[in-house]
Amino acid sequence: MHSHILPKNLPRFADKFGYGDFIHLQHREDGAADMMKGDTFFRTIQPNCWDEDLRIEEYKQFDTQVQVVCTIPVMFSYWAKPQDCLDLSMFLNDHLAQLVEEKPKEYVALGTVPMQDADCAIKELQRLKAMGVPGIQIGSNINDLNLDEERFFPIFKACEELDLAIMIHPWNMMGMESMRKYWLPWLVGMPAETSRAACSLIFGGVLERLPNLRVCFSHAGGSFFGTLGRIEHGFNCRPDLVAIDNPHNPRNYVGKFWVDCITHDAKALQYILDHQGSKRVCLGSDYPFPLGDLEIGKFIEDGDFDAQTVEDIFCNSTLEWLQLDKERYF
Ligand SMILES: [Zn+2]
Repeated sequence: MHSHILPKNLPRFADKFGYGDFIHLQHREDGAADMMKGDTFFRTIQPNCWDEDLRIEEYKQFDTQVQVVCTIPVMFSYWAKPQDCLDLSMFLNDHLAQLVEEKPKEYVALGTVPMQDADCAIKELQRLKAMGVPGIQIGSNINDLNLDEERFFPIFKACEELDLAIMIHPWNMMGMESMRKYWLPWLVGMPAETSRAACSLIFGGVLERLPNLRVCFSHAGGSFFGTLGRIEHGFNCRPDLVAIDNPHNPRNYVGKFWVDCITHDAKALQYILDHQGSKRVCLGSDYPFPLGDLEIGKFIEDGDFDAQTVEDIFCNSTLEWLQLDKERYF
């Protein structure tokens, strides 16, 4: 689970809607493509970002058959007018659903929805459900609002009712402006963003109110587990600041949500497993981006984990999180 894909060609949404720095692709002669945010260069992507057959070949090298794919967070476009973001989301979701229809043994899709507007988001959730998509990917914040804001609750409630899973991906990183050097938004901001999302959903009582909501946090929960002792201590020593919306200890929620295994470090993964149990840790790759685990689980195979733990991480946890039937992939 946790890999990113785009359609090879994106419409010029800025021209279609008449405003905004919507992402578009400029394909180059060397086969790569530049992602452009308006007129600003964002990043270069390679054909394995859109070529579904090439992706299957590259995954095969690591004995991995199935990819759970979702869009690249910069495509979320939560800043756009809700109806336009819905249009864009539908375009991306149609591409994902079609991919799964064509290659059902190799691909599972997570959709995207306009989180800035609950009505539009729920409309698309219902459509995704009807298309057989098992879940969605959302950002760690929505236009800088935290996920416990009451305006997002109907969306989470609809996900629980429709039995759709949620993957939370860091993006729009806090402190971006003040730490441009050394790739700090990705190395420092992203783990903090994921912990921000986890703490918001816990302290805001969202996970308490929706016990059947199946949430998975990217990058092994970011900095959440590394600072869990501090988070719990803060809850205990200053309940007047921390426990205002949910009286329960944050540790109660550990093992109830899922995380991926992208730690690049067997010892760090063991620490996560000690908290979460192997049934709540999924094999993530973040493929095809360089910060991901591009040898897909090799550090786990090389590590000192028992066979059941490895099997849980490599397939059982993701199957349970997305409520998928293992037989479907034989
Ligand atoms: Zn990712």
